[in-house]
Amino acid sequence: MCPWGWFRALFFAGWTSLALLLLPGAALASAPDEPAQLLKYADAIKSENNAEFVDILKKLGDASATLPSSQQLYLRYLNAWQRGYSGDYEAAIPMLNAIIDQSTDVTLRFRAGVSAVNILAIAAHYDEAYLRLSQLLDLLPHISDRDAIEQAFVVAAILYNQAGQYDLGSSYAEKLFAEGTNGANACKGVQLKNEALYKSGKLEAFNNEFQAGIDTCVKVNEPLWTNLIRTYVATFDIEQGRVAEAIALLKKYYDEAQRTHYPRLMSEFDSILAQAYWKSGDVVDARRYAQSAIDKSVKNQITKPLVDAYRVLYQAAQKEGDYQSALAFHEKYAAADKGYLNDVSARTLAYQMVSHQVTANKLQIDSLNKQNQVLQLQQALDRKAAETGRLYVALLLSVLGFIALWAYKTKRSQLRFKTLARRDGLTGIFNRQHFVEAAKSSLQYCAKSAREACVVVIDLDHFKLINDAHGHAAGDMVLKRAVSACQAHLRSIDSFGRLGGEEFGIALPDCTLETALIRAEELRVAIAELGEDADLDFTVSASFGIASTTGSGYDLRQLLIDADNALYEAKREGRNRVSACQSRTSVGVQSGSNQV
Ligand code: GH3
Ligand code: MG
Ligand code: MG
Repeated sequence: MCPWGWFRALFFAGWTSLALLLLPGAALASAPDEPAQLLKYADAIKSENNAEFVDILKKLGDASATLPSSQQLYLRYLNAWQRGYSGDYEAAIPMLNAIIDQSTDVTLRFRAGVSAVNILAIAAHYDEAYLRLSQLLDLLPHISDRDAIEQAFVVAAILYNQAGQYDLGSSYAEKLFAEGTNGANACKGVQLKNEALYKSGKLEAFNNEFQAGIDTCVKVNEPLWTNLIRTYVATFDIEQGRVAEAIALLKKYYDEAQRTHYPRLMSEFDSILAQAYWKSGDVVDARRYAQSAIDKSVKNQITKPLVDAYRVLYQAAQKEGDYQSALAFHEKYAAADKGYLNDVSARTLAYQMVSHQVTANKLQIDSLNKQNQVLQLQQALDRKAAETGRLYVALLLSVLGFIALWAYKTKRSQLRFKTLARRDGLTGIFNRQHFVEAAKSSLQYCAKSAREACVVVIDLDHFKLINDAHGHAAGDMVLKRAVSACQAHLRSIDSFGRLGGEEFGIALPDCTLETALIRAEELRVAIAELGEDADLDFTVSASFGIASTTGSGYDLRQLLIDADNALYEAKREGRNRVSACQSRTSVGVQSGSNQV
């Protein structure tokens, strides 16, 4: 039987490595005065010289109010460590958690995390211990402090060994003596590797390997680890029947083990000695050491030394015939043994559960990452689609804009052409064709409402003479001026067009013959007055022929014929006059006077 229980003691030894690194060798000869140095010194000696460490903590505690906050947190960490070391686990855990919450020092927080994992495991909070261990190991790539990293390796190796994960335990132990930056860690690495190999049945030369571990740990002054290995060796000696060697070994280093003040180690020494004395037949010493092992055990903690100690007490009582005591010790032994076995399986179960949980979480994270990637891809595609969509819309809008512009320009030019096509190029009034259309339409309108309308035909008098005498340009100018003079007297509903040459037509809707005569007379006068313009040295006049719907009907063709006849009449009667067709009466006006 191997006393695996005492391996729990290894948990705390991890700190020693850090301590030695922080203040190695001669520098530790005496305690410094300066608080920062004193904290480091205390950290360095905490398991090596636990009594002095406790004194320093007290001294620093008295002056803690004067320390800067970073040193106060460091001191709190060391106090938490001591609480755990002395077996007050339930006080140590919240203290360490508070440091993790409050400290901004990544290394201190990580160390507090590793300590918390240690203590959680010792206090049988296995689920939390293995879960937080897994989280700490994930943090390792972000930790630069080599001591803190190796501290985590120690704890990982111990916890994995305890969960029966010897390959994992062994690999972390190997990291310690392969990559370890100091002898203390090499000492722990060798021992943890031995433990993994031994428990998995792979260690062949037991004593040699363990002796190598002891040598390594002695060299670096690790009394806790050295004596833990010795308990191992002693247990093996007892199993092999070398009881005297076991007793000799443990007695030789008994005081050294007691000086560590580490309850687990102390009770382990007592428990193994009790078993050795029992085997050697020394019932008195067996009982004495068994009782001592029970007394030194941490309260409410079921450990292997406790189980073994009760077994010795029960066997001793039985041998002496004290059956009542034997029964009582046997009950305690059975309860402790059951509790211890439950403890071992609880630890293994916790590891398995956390391991599954971590794997499940990682799978979930992987799957979420994948989903995230798909979503990002989708978003990128959507963005592209939106961009393309926007491009299409922009293209469509520009095409539509272009079409609208093109349509507008086309329409405008159509309108311009249409206007041009309707207008006479020289005078700007309707050409003959459009005049006919406009006049017909206004006659139609008048016909529908039975309103009277008139058509006036105008012909400039002796225009050929003007052309001949003053040139074609002068003729053109007269044409334009005559048109302007007429326009000034026309309503917006009247249609005015050039019928050809120097001949014009006017359609006067909603106009009686009498009114038409008056208005034609106004036009005649206006044209005649052109001759009074300063730049004209010749007279201008026109003759007017009028036809009314009352006499000619609403047919434009007939109205034009009748108006033409009236015009002919006016010409014949001497020109520069107005003649109306309807009543065959002509109204002649010459030089502003009416002539009927
Ligand atoms: P009447 O009094 O009998 O109408 O005599 P008239 O000379 O006005 O008549 P006629 O028909 O003999 O002559 C018309 C002239 O008008 C002939 C032609 O050269 C001229 N004419 C026609 N169109 C234009 C034009 O656009 N510009 C110019 N300057 N002359 C034109
Ligand atoms: Mg003419
Ligand atoms: Mg004429």
